[in-house]
Amino acid sequence: MNIDVESLQRLVEKAVSELREEKKSVQAAVGDGVFATMDEAVKASAAAQKKFAYCGMVDREHFVQVIRDTVLDPKVLEEISWDTVEETGIGCYEHKLVKNRLAAEKTPGTEDLTTWASSGDDGLTITEYCPFGVIGAITPTTNPTETVICNGIGAIAGGNTIVFSPHPRAKNVTLKLVRLLNHALAAAGAPENLIVTVAEPSIENTNAMMKHPDVRMLVATGGPGIVKMVLSSGKKAIGAGAGNPPVVVDETANIPKAAKDIIDGCSFDNNVPCIAEKEVFAVASICDRLIACMQECGGYLLTDPEEIQRLVELTTKDNGAPKVEFVGKSAKYILGKLGVEVPSDARVIMMETDRNHHFVTQEMLMPILPVVRVKNADEAIQCAFVAEHGNRHTAMIHSTNVVNMTKMAQLLETTIFVKNGPSYTGIGAGGQGYATFTIAGPTGEGLTSPKSFCRVRRCAMKEGFHIRTKSQAYFGNPPADS
Ligand code: NAD
Repeated sequence: MNIDVESLQRLVEKAVSELREEKKSVQAAVGDGVFATMDEAVKASAAAQKKFAYCGMVDREHFVQVIRDTVLDPKVLEEISWDTVEETGIGCYEHKLVKNRLAAEKTPGTEDLTTWASSGDDGLTITEYCPFGVIGAITPTTNPTETVICNGIGAIAGGNTIVFSPHPRAKNVTLKLVRLLNHALAAAGAPENLIVTVAEPSIENTNAMMKHPDVRMLVATGGPGIVKMVLSSGKKAIGAGAGNPPVVVDETANIPKAAKDIIDGCSFDNNVPCIAEKEVFAVASICDRLIACMQECGGYLLTDPEEIQRLVELTTKDNGAPKVEFVGKSAKYILGKLGVEVPSDARVIMMETDRNHHFVTQEMLMPILPVVRVKNADEAIQCAFVAEHGNRHTAMIHSTNVVNMTKMAQLLETTIFVKNGPSYTGIGAGGQGYATFTIAGPTGEGLTSPKSFCRVRRCAMKEGFHIRTKSQAYFGNPPADS
């Protein structure tokens, strides 16, 4: 190829100028906990952790409160909820508000770190939950800000600092939240960089974080691929993976209530929560009534097998996985693309299928709900067990029969098992108990809390500090009989 010197010079100048611009845009993006490279982010986090180790438990709780207050500021809550839907194209604004609020209000703080003590003739031993150091957290597109809030509170309550590697599709909203939290923490006197991330999230950056020697522990909230990766990292890892939560409805259930709970749970944030109802197994004697009641609550029933097949093809990739452009979209949007006009109150797309149908076996993360008619509760429970694929994640039952409830809980062994409520009851939304958006079935922490981000350490004192008996070392022999 012939090229004259002048043209070559112009090309070089153009390339240099482009590089400068690129660098400028990265530099403009850094600051307030956002770093140009993963190495810089982790090093800043490690330096912050050394300082954070000198902060007391009252300081930690204060910083946790700062995170809660920052997120609960109505302007911030609205902005991060709105931005998430806009950037990821996933979920529904009103429900993101609920989820972010839940994470800020009900993720446990330092009160979770209970000390265990044993005292006796040999002295006193205490066992405390202590920091790991720098935690590397990988967050999903489906709950990007909720996971930053709940992992952030958990890590800091536990005395750690945390580096986030967000999903690239949720980059801007995650960076915005990290910045807001750092501003607020700095204003409250916290060491800089308790919560950090990178300006350009990518798979390469996630890999760099996993391998970085200063990262002591990993937490991955996402699908099976990333969970497997953190578990192969050689580091302590929390893996919070995929689910495919089944619902069983037997003949003893309060059917109108079950129908409403199922539609509420299935449509929540357009079905992207990993805990949301994904398929129903209904006992034949109540199945028609259940479907009719679900229709009254916003379930739109498809009956034409060809139309159902077109829906499968519309929403599913060749490899069987859901098409990204339909994940977290509303029932109305999906049906619109199918060419079906629906009333605006349609919240869930329902259809009767057999137990092996694609919509039953695949986690679609869309408000599509197959209903499978079965003979009796035993068959329903067995089908639910198969559909859950051994994820041991979440399952629901609507029943008043204690035997059925117990059998299902015993067979499926899920981390969350909800009886007679929508799925989100299980993460503290309208249900008892604290909230989390990192449900660690594969690695067994369950509903993660600050304890999950801690190392357990024992401190034993020989002889001293037990007060129930008199030690001969201090008091000599017992008094003689008078
Ligand atoms: P995803 O697995 O595609 O991505 C999750 C995170 O992992 C992202 O940050 C992504 O960038 C990263 N990642 C994925 N593959 C990677 C690779 N090869 N190398 C490096 N990084 C990689 O999941 P998603 O679509 O964002 O979220 C939905 C999935 O997560 C669903 O399966 C859902 O059930 C699950 N989920 C589980 C929980 C839980 O608590 N158990 C919570 C939320 C979501």
